[in-house]
Amino acid sequence: MPAAKPMTLTEQIIAAHAGRASVEPGENVWVDVDVLMTHDVCGPGTIGIFKEQFSSPGKPAKVWDRDRVVIIPDHYIFTADDKCHRNVQILRDFVMEQGLKYYYDPDFINTAPGSGFPNPYRDPTQTKYKGVCHKALPEEGHIRPGEILLGTDSHTCTAGAFGQFATGVGNTDAAFVLGTGKTWLKVPPTMKFAFHGSIPPYLTAKDLILAVIGDIGFSGATYKAMYFTGDGVGSLSLEDRMTLTNMAIEAGGKNGICDVDEKTLAYVRARSNRPDWTVYTEPTGAKYDYVKEWDLENFEPLVAKPHSPDNTATARECKDVKLDRAYIGSCTGGKITDMIFAATILRGNKVKIPTFVVPGSTEVHADMKRLNVVGQPKAPGEKSIEDILLDAGCQLGPASCAACLGGPVDTFGRLNEPVNCISTTNRNFPGRMGHKEAGVYLASPLTAAASALTGYVTDPREYVSEPIATGEAGVV
Ligand code: SF4
Repeated sequence: MPAAKPMTLTEQIIAAHAGRASVEPGENVWVDVDVLMTHDVCGPGTIGIFKEQFSSPGKPAKVWDRDRVVIIPDHYIFTADDKCHRNVQILRDFVMEQGLKYYYDPDFINTAPGSGFPNPYRDPTQTKYKGVCHKALPEEGHIRPGEILLGTDSHTCTAGAFGQFATGVGNTDAAFVLGTGKTWLKVPPTMKFAFHGSIPPYLTAKDLILAVIGDIGFSGATYKAMYFTGDGVGSLSLEDRMTLTNMAIEAGGKNGICDVDEKTLAYVRARSNRPDWTVYTEPTGAKYDYVKEWDLENFEPLVAKPHSPDNTATARECKDVKLDRAYIGSCTGGKITDMIFAATILRGNKVKIPTFVVPGSTEVHADMKRLNVVGQPKAPGEKSIEDILLDAGCQLGPASCAACLGGPVDTFGRLNEPVNCISTTNRNFPGRMGHKEAGVYLASPLTAAASALTGYVTDPREYVSEPIATGEAGVV
């Protein structure tokens, strides 16, 4: 009998969930899904299809496993828009009706028509609400290596940072999963991106993923697994790896995935709401569709110019681009380590342009109040990360997706005019953050903060040369 062909991480996970010894790229297989996530934008549509397809007279539809459905409202939360409030009410009703265990309610929203703008939470530790789904999923213990996560959001691939297969699906597919716990999946071929060396202090994972997308183009990984590896990835914090995998979809990737190491295991052991999971490792001899090696020593800070994440240039090349605004938030720039990166540059300085800061989750917001700029619990009288950002003149909003997706016109930080904005978000197509003629420059939190100080796209090496300590921030 011929020896079994070594399978990539993605192939191993899919094979295990298909009950197969092996799978090949291009094959279609049925797989069992471990967790299905939805939110306030796609949840109502998914629920509607689920009820239509899985109900019969006298037999209302029931989700396949009430402990494996996770609902995280996060997109259109801080708005007076009645339609957005109605979406939250649909989620509330569904959770009640199905007896779902994992729902993170924006408990400060009154969904009655005409109730107006909700009063945001006063204390981020005293609300069930969590904020951006991709940040809340691991925080709340829903992410484990070796599992399959599907979500009704294209950036569900973020969770691949934890060594799992995670991908976005449409409402119809999600409704089918709600009813059956299964999905029909084509096995993607794997592209390997190896980063060598240790991450220098002036770079973050945002620079790395922009380099990849700039290299292969916005459709360069269409329906492929993007495997990020090497000691360079190992040197990233887990939170920064989430930025790498998050943006796999910006190159068309089916999923992004990283190796599991001690950082991953420590986080998952401390957070997971299930005790067991399987760690798969990438074997030697696995077959790749594409391989690219990068040396971190030769990297410099990058931006993606309007209007595509693959329209990359070095920050230095854009030094004459005048900015009107900076935005620090979203699932790629609203983590606690991102806030430390920004605060390190902004500390003791004043921003020159309006700078909007949005924590990715209520846990991040709580940590911004609790930790100092090196990620340690602040001493009495010492400035918190939040204090530093406010002292620098930033405007701070409550945790949510906020202006990353534009949203209703009253959304915090939304680009309502054709301005130039440097942003830590992940997508800069026309209109993404609001106005169709606004120009969005995607950048790391370091580059965004440095640019906020000058009003021009600015290479963060002008402000950072020493490694930035992040202490206990985002570790477990
Ligand atoms: S922060 Fe932006 S990219 Fe992330 S889930 Fe929200 S809208 Fe999507």
